[in-house]
Amino acid sequence: MWDTQEAIVFCLAAGAVVRLIAPLLQHKSTDPAVVVVDEAGKFVVSLCSGHTGGADKLTLLVAQLLGATPVLTGASSSLGLPAVDILGVPFGWQKGVGDWTKVSAIVARQDAVEVIQESGSTLWQQVFKFATSASPQAKVWITHRTPRGDDTLQVCWHPRVLWVGIGCERGTPKETITQAITQVCLANNLAENAIAGIATIDIKADEVGLIELCQERNLPLRTFTAKVLNSISVPNPSPVVAAEVGTPSVAEAAAMSAAQVDSLVVTKQIYKSQGAVTVAIAQAEREYTNRNGKLFLVGTGPGKLDQITPAAQNAISSADVVIGYELYIDLIKPLLQPQQIIEALPITQERQRAERAIELANWGLTVAVVSSGDSGIYGMAGLVMEQLQATGWDGKTPSIQVFPGITALQAAAARVGTPLMHDFCAISLSDLLTPWEAIEKRLTAAAQADFITALYNPKSQTRTQQFATACAIFLKYRNPNTPVAIVRSAYRDNEQIILTTLDKLLDTPVDMLTTVLIGNQSTRTHHNWMITPRGYLGFGDSD
Ligand code: SAH
Repeated sequence: MWDTQEAIVFCLAAGAVVRLIAPLLQHKSTDPAVVVVDEAGKFVVSLCSGHTGGADKLTLLVAQLLGATPVLTGASSSLGLPAVDILGVPFGWQKGVGDWTKVSAIVARQDAVEVIQESGSTLWQQVFKFATSASPQAKVWITHRTPRGDDTLQVCWHPRVLWVGIGCERGTPKETITQAITQVCLANNLAENAIAGIATIDIKADEVGLIELCQERNLPLRTFTAKVLNSISVPNPSPVVAAEVGTPSVAEAAAMSAAQVDSLVVTKQIYKSQGAVTVAIAQAEREYTNRNGKLFLVGTGPGKLDQITPAAQNAISSADVVIGYELYIDLIKPLLQPQQIIEALPITQERQRAERAIELANWGLTVAVVSSGDSGIYGMAGLVMEQLQATGWDGKTPSIQVFPGITALQAAAARVGTPLMHDFCAISLSDLLTPWEAIEKRLTAAAQADFITALYNPKSQTRTQQFATACAIFLKYRNPNTPVAIVRSAYRDNEQIILTTLDKLLDTPVDMLTTVLIGNQSTRTHHNWMITPRGYLGFGDSD
């Protein structure tokens, strides 16, 4: 079990766990994450493989689920700082040479370090703030090259930006291809850990040496048709190759196609040993993450942390990136983790929020998009899925998970009693995206059919006529004494609740933070509570 599991959670005394795992421990880069929960479920301890193995992250998640106290004893954890050895994980960066233990200790002491970034995303800068000075104690390289060794203490992250184009004779063994790549990288000062993948022509998709190499190194093999390769203008076209496979370049054109750029960092190099290999390397602008992106569409309920489901809380805490409207990001602050990238956007930019989330998920990140109430009820979830569909999404990548939340009508109802105990409907009075005629038709139908009706987005500063018309429609079909609840900012600090009747509704203050619940013909009030009978006490129970 030790070798096959990514993480193990023990519900045992820490001492017993230490004795159990002691003979199995090898190295923090390979050991599984070990987390210990005490029997009462009060504490969750990150015991082993805290950073790289993810035990710290798992500890925080388990603690949150149990309502327990997380115990993290790693140096950077105790300072609330993200650790330098997890900096590149979300982006699929590979670790290169360096003394990670020493540099981590320097960072944790908040001594100065110099960061030199030559490739890869800069999103990490939102999360990691290194102390700097004129005489840094260590260097952190973020590069696709092999940094020149000097006396400074240093570590190196390699973003996977290099696409290696390969052409080879049929039957060239894996070893020859490997040697060719190693030699070209060495000669050009490029890090093999920065290789994103291998690119070639489609007729080489079954080339055994290439397939074995990709399997061994867990690299993707991207293949392109002769027609696609033919359309790329390369530095070293070859008429011999053109006559053979129908394109004057395989290695150069494939590298450029895979990297989606129009230049090379290494032009065609020919390597001859057992078989012959040509190698060319192109550098992509964005690194390959080797991860399948995920989109969590999360409803955060009406406004208090304890009104968010544990599943939704977990989704928020475990995402790489959290995107949402500023106000909701504020609300969920206690759930956010030090290593998470947070993108709070103004309320008007829903579309941009959805596009950004899709872009990051397509790139391989796990992105939580948060919306108040239920994300799929006049929320962001619908917008994200609509946009995914419009861009030809295959239904799987990125994967989608929707986390339901308590919607405004439920929250408002709960604050005044049980007004929704019979058939009900929700109608948004916002005609920004829906034609007013359609809204008016639904209002009339709901009023006529005696649905209890929740009005969302009832009135804004500029949009007031719609609410007046809605009141008039309901007064036409319902008793003027029909109870109405006006709930503003339910479950938030400045919550306001007014119980009134239909004939006085128009004179009651209502705005965009308000949900209006109009009762049906049986709804009644009782000591400031609103009750819609279900009929348990017999038909004709209305007064
Ligand atoms: N996705 C949200 C609705 C967004 S539409 C949900 O499921 O609740 C915005 C409207 O929701 C507001 O105009 C208001 O009518 C209602 N609303 C949202 N939160 C509310 C709250 N805490 N109290 C009262 N109404 C709320």
